[in-house]
Amino acid sequence: MAVAKCKIDHRHRNIYYVIYVPIWVKIYVVKNSMSKVTIIGAGLAGSLLAIYLAKRGFAVDLFEAREDMRVGDAARGRSINMALSDRGIAALREVGMDEYILDAAIPMLGRMIHTPTGETKLLPYSGRKGEYINSISRAGLNAALMTEAEKHRGVSFHFKEQCTGYDLVSSELSFASGKAIKSDLVFAADGAGSALRQALDKTVEGFESRSDFLEHGYKELVIPPGQDGSFLIEKNALHIWPRHKFMMIALPNLDGSFTCTLFLALKAIEGGSEPSFDQLTDEAKLYEFFEREFADALPLMPTLAKDFYANPTGMLGTVHCSPWHSDGRVLLLGDAAHAMVPFYGQGMNCAFEDVHALDSLIEKYGADRSVIFSEFEKERLPNAAAIQSMAIENFYEMRDKVADPVFQRKRELETRLEQVYDDYFSKYSMVTFREDLAYSEAKRLGNAQDELLMKICGPIENIAELDIEDVISKVRKLQ
Ligand code: FAD
Repeated sequence: MAVAKCKIDHRHRNIYYVIYVPIWVKIYVVKNSMSKVTIIGAGLAGSLLAIYLAKRGFAVDLFEAREDMRVGDAARGRSINMALSDRGIAALREVGMDEYILDAAIPMLGRMIHTPTGETKLLPYSGRKGEYINSISRAGLNAALMTEAEKHRGVSFHFKEQCTGYDLVSSELSFASGKAIKSDLVFAADGAGSALRQALDKTVEGFESRSDFLEHGYKELVIPPGQDGSFLIEKNALHIWPRHKFMMIALPNLDGSFTCTLFLALKAIEGGSEPSFDQLTDEAKLYEFFEREFADALPLMPTLAKDFYANPTGMLGTVHCSPWHSDGRVLLLGDAAHAMVPFYGQGMNCAFEDVHALDSLIEKYGADRSVIFSEFEKERLPNAAAIQSMAIENFYEMRDKVADPVFQRKRELETRLEQVYDDYFSKYSMVTFREDLAYSEAKRLGNAQDELLMKICGPIENIAELDIEDVISKVRKLQ
């Protein structure tokens, strides 16, 4: 219960109150001074952020360019899935959504490598039990987060509202619909092509922004379920067809289908012999390419040509920008701040971790937005940069190295080390299963371990030749 004592300052004739309050009233006062917020983008980060902020008592308005994905044609769209792992799960756990989401996920225990001649080999993600990644429907996850956010009083979604700019002088957000609203606290969760980032670029002195695109793009394809809804390839794996300069991957869906993603150069290199999207101009060329490169997958893809020519070819880019905030009024997060290529399966996980980290800073600094925003960038930017660069490196690992025998021996050795020693984590495990470890530390230690283990595995034929105690003692010296 609050106790107020009246004090009179005789010198200045002011009356003021010393208020002794229990902690919950203090929290309410903090909430009240930042109580109305706007989020641009009701994607994965924006919808999760709405839940976190609503739980802190904020009134949240979300403006989303697309229509509500839970209704109409959008709800019947293509099924696209993604890998959810521990950092993302930790952020969902904080708002009680982890179990609900994982119930709709398929565990993927390792990478199933498909060779050009159709042999398969499973490389487990970890030697420890319970360390795996989860295939989850992107739309299903986004819809669940929206529905959860809507349960909170004060959360409102505004669909088909594409933000076109933010005037930092008048605090006015403008929309393609002609709408204009004032908001002096805006979270920009509007993805890789962020309009808010572009607004900051135009108006904030010293703002730096760069998008680096790979020469490769991607196309989503499908392996449908068997007649009885069965999985036509191993259900509990992330499938990879590594082909050096390009690759295809496939993740399972609950209905027995797999969403495949073909990563391929966008354009042919002059004088080069590598395949590219621009060469696959007709069905004959497409089938000839698939018969040559993905012979075991082709018979499982009856709608290949239809999907290939109907689905868009996506670009793959990394966004670098700074500062992520201005004036304590606007903050970029998720892909808007640090989009990355998808080869570590961490873009969403990192965006969810952003939301979790932001919430911890609100807890710590209360209503001091300028401090919260600058601390957020100080903490998150080096980590985002670390996972962005690891994601690019992983592209080369997945398409080239995964098929290399030395790399495969190194993965076997890492699995063995994880089975035997509790304190050993491969780089992949540190990134994927250690939400307690910053991405930047996972990168530093992971790269040092990788270099050492590749050296150890180079000259041997089989990891049984190694003295495992000697290996772990060398690894421990890197810590
Ligand atoms: P988004 O999910 O892009 O959401 C942005 C939202 O803002 C969208 O709803 C959009 O419609 C809306 N919007 C955009 N502009 C405006 C505007 N001007 N006004 C209003 N609304 C706007 N990550 C993983 O963790 N695991 C994976 O397995 C994985 N696989 C991937 C595979 C591919 C092929 C790609 C391209 C990415 C993958 N990612 C993966 C990355 C992941 O998709 C992103 O990191 C994640 O979606 C980022 O969330 P976000 O909310 O910041 O952005």
